[in-house]
Amino acid sequence: MPQPRIDLHTHSAVSDGTDSPTEVVARAARLGLAGVALTDHDTDAGLAEAFAAGQRYGIEVIGGMEVSTKYAGRSVHLLAYGVDAAAPELAAELARIREGRADRLGPVLAKLAELGVGVSEADVRAQVGDSPSVGRPHIADALVAAGHVRSRREAFDRFLADDGPAHVERYAVDLERALRLVRDAGGVAVIAHPWGRSTRGVLTPEVLSGLAAEHGLDGIEVDHQDHNPPVRRQLRRLASQLGLLATGSSDYHGTGKVDHELGCNTTAPEVADALRSLMAQRSPH
Ligand code: AMP
Ligand code: FE
Ligand code: FE
Ligand code: ZN
Repeated sequence: MPQPRIDLHTHSAVSDGTDSPTEVVARAARLGLAGVALTDHDTDAGLAEAFAAGQRYGIEVIGGMEVSTKYAGRSVHLLAYGVDAAAPELAAELARIREGRADRLGPVLAKLAELGVGVSEADVRAQVGDSPSVGRPHIADALVAAGHVRSRREAFDRFLADDGPAHVERYAVDLERALRLVRDAGGVAVIAHPWGRSTRGVLTPEVLSGLAAEHGLDGIEVDHQDHNPPVRRQLRRLASQLGLLATGSSDYHGTGKVDHELGCNTTAPEVADALRSLMAQRSPH
């Protein structure tokens, strides 16, 4: 019998994906996945719709989100499952992060104008749709719509990437504080793509070990497109040494990110079971 496949990291148009939450869940069902977690950036606003779609399409939906944090000056994405996003301290941080994205828009647009690829704030707003925050991918979409670049990828490669000429820093919550807020709000905390481009040299085995032992980190994403096979092997071994959950996921963004098709990486059933029992232990009910 084939093993049930569960994808623990996906985005809808409630952040910077292109499918509605219902479409993400319907697509997961169509692809034969047993379960899917919706993990939009810094918001749980898509979850009610996703849960309803899970009922309709007969597949398990796990509630989550991907929190923008920073560690040693680098951007680190923290997946939080089963977390109460309305817990006051966490809710305040999430709002601050979303505002930080919006505040950055003007300065980024000024840089783009200087670089000869101007778009207006209205052009960007036209791309935002249902998302409660304005991310770089939406700015990328406006550049595509204006004919300055052909794809989101080209927009990032030429202008918007972390080391690109139009990048502007924005607010993110300190990782150790985020771990505490997520755990206090009943969540299970898993670092997304820990050895992807921006954090490879920063989240060393020693750092991850400390985060697990002292700050309540529960897991790391191992199977992710940003990790090549040797990196996956090293991270899997590390997770097992540190007693961390080793998850796998697509980081699906609809048409917004190529080579991240839903279900391209999935989480082992026993890891999904362990995640569910942690969620159940921590839920206030
Ligand atoms: P923001 O949160 O507004 O800073 O935008 C970050 C989002 O942009 C990430 O969640 C990704 O979806 C996307 N992103 C970041 N870097 C890249 C890149 N180099 N290429 C394509 N998409 C990227
Ligand atoms: Fe994203
Ligand atoms: Fe991420
Ligand atoms: Zn993501």
